[in-house]
Amino acid sequence: MTVAPQRPGALTRPASVTPELLARLTARVASDGSRTPWALTEVYTGETLVELPQSTPSDIERAFAEARAAQVRWAATPVKQRLEVFKRAHTLLIDNAQRTADLIQVESGKNRRMAIEETCDPPMVMSYYLKRAKKLLAPKKHGGPVPIVSGSTEVRVPKGVVGIIAPWNFPFATGLSDAIPALIAGNAVVVKPDNKTALSPLYGISLLEEAGLPKGLFQVVCGEGPDVGPTLIDNADYVMFTGSTATGRVIGERAGRNLIGCCLELGGKNPMIVLDDVNVEEWVEGTTFGVFGNTGQICMHIERIYLPESRYDELKSAFVTRAANLEIGAAYDFGPEIGSLVSPDHRDRVASHVEDAVAKGATVLTGGRARPDIGPAFFEPTVLEGVTKDMLAGHTETFGPVVSLYSYRTVDEAIHLANDTDYGLNASVWSGDLARAEAVAARIESGNVNINDALATAYASKGSPSGGVKKSGVGARHGDQGLLKYTDAKNVAVLKKQVMGPRPGQAYDAYVKQMLSSLKLMRRLRVR
Ligand code: NAD
Repeated sequence: MTVAPQRPGALTRPASVTPELLARLTARVASDGSRTPWALTEVYTGETLVELPQSTPSDIERAFAEARAAQVRWAATPVKQRLEVFKRAHTLLIDNAQRTADLIQVESGKNRRMAIEETCDPPMVMSYYLKRAKKLLAPKKHGGPVPIVSGSTEVRVPKGVVGIIAPWNFPFATGLSDAIPALIAGNAVVVKPDNKTALSPLYGISLLEEAGLPKGLFQVVCGEGPDVGPTLIDNADYVMFTGSTATGRVIGERAGRNLIGCCLELGGKNPMIVLDDVNVEEWVEGTTFGVFGNTGQICMHIERIYLPESRYDELKSAFVTRAANLEIGAAYDFGPEIGSLVSPDHRDRVASHVEDAVAKGATVLTGGRARPDIGPAFFEPTVLEGVTKDMLAGHTETFGPVVSLYSYRTVDEAIHLANDTDYGLNASVWSGDLARAEAVAARIESGNVNINDALATAYASKGSPSGGVKKSGVGARHGDQGLLKYTDAKNVAVLKKQVMGPRPGQAYDAYVKQMLSSLKLMRRLRVR
């Protein structure tokens, strides 16, 4: 690992992040100011950027009341008109990508390459739903029990006010992208970003309002999860949660008690299986991003790599060499390949996984240390070997720039090892033969499988639902289901003439015989 050469001024806080902007953004948080604010820090320096207001339960209730009032008017607005707002927002979000990236970087410490990529997610989600929403939300006619005289219409009704709880790793994307289909479907949204990373979602919401989103429709509450979570869930009509599996359980339990729906996008311990015919150069580049992108803080990033025994030494050497030469640094320009972790606390968690593995017999092939000389929360890109399931890094999510290499003898063994986990969020298969890779992909227990890529292809394919199986989640985002989940289906059925039941004077036996033979006839005529 090398420290990226620092250009003069690269660590100067971006000029766009002015005290006026920060004051304008934080004023949007629903708060009466009675709670001690949260000191939101610039990750690269550890300096306080702004005091983030915190929401009390009554602030949250007020936010829901305002959202509910705005939602009634919004739901009555024709879908075409709602979509016009998002067409304008799409342009505005792209035109302001650099300033958004400035905010993402100051609050999360990720490198600029990743911050800019993050800004692209909400416009990509918008593009998909701008194309699909009218069709998805249009009433659908279905046949009724008796042909011609009966029929039913499936009407999509917005849930009401959707509560969104977002994590810090992609604060702008998770704060906005899940809200977009909810809003398009006619809902209001109350979002709770992570305290550490509330600025970029607040800025994104201000751009949506500039594009014409009615004021009050998209509310923001802030606070520590256990303080804000219960009131938020108790007031919501649906909850969209992204975060750890442990918190997902708490959210799911409360939503269940309230009998409201929820979508839970949770953690992973994502495996990669490399087949013996892989192209080494392509694999190394794709895997470097898949492991170390966003400093390993991507829910879909790869933490376990299974290499064929016949090519283990060659593949290990190529990958470790690339990891050892990654350029890490604190800079607001596009220089460093790897940025910081989000906080010193998270750096300590990542370090504890490496220390635990080493203490139990694993070997560090490269990296393995915190780098306070670069910034308060930096940690080196790390490759481990000899990791076993009794180690923290062997069975639970590290969520940092740390990966373990394993050797396998047969593909069956590799698939068994890949599936030997409670998680099922993402997996990756590499091969020069797509049919071989697809056959392996079919046997992996995972909500997403990327072939010849680590994670981005699945996540960026906005037309396919993306979610976790096993302990990695419930439900999915993206695709048609990513919008329809924010609606209830209302079944409006019409009987034009009362023809069901026996005709006047008809014996019940005769009626039953006629009804049963009609069922057969309708099946043959394919009438339902
Ligand atoms: P976390 O579960 O600690 O926190 C996520 C959010 O939940 C934060 O806003 C937090 O304040 C809030 N929260 C915490 N406790 C709460 C409670 N009791 N009630 C209500 N809200 C509560 O997760 P994190 O450490 O911030 O994020 C990292 C995790 O998120 C990793 O496990 C990662 O894999 C996962 N993640 C998953 C996806 C996905 O799409 N599957 C995407 C990004 C991150």
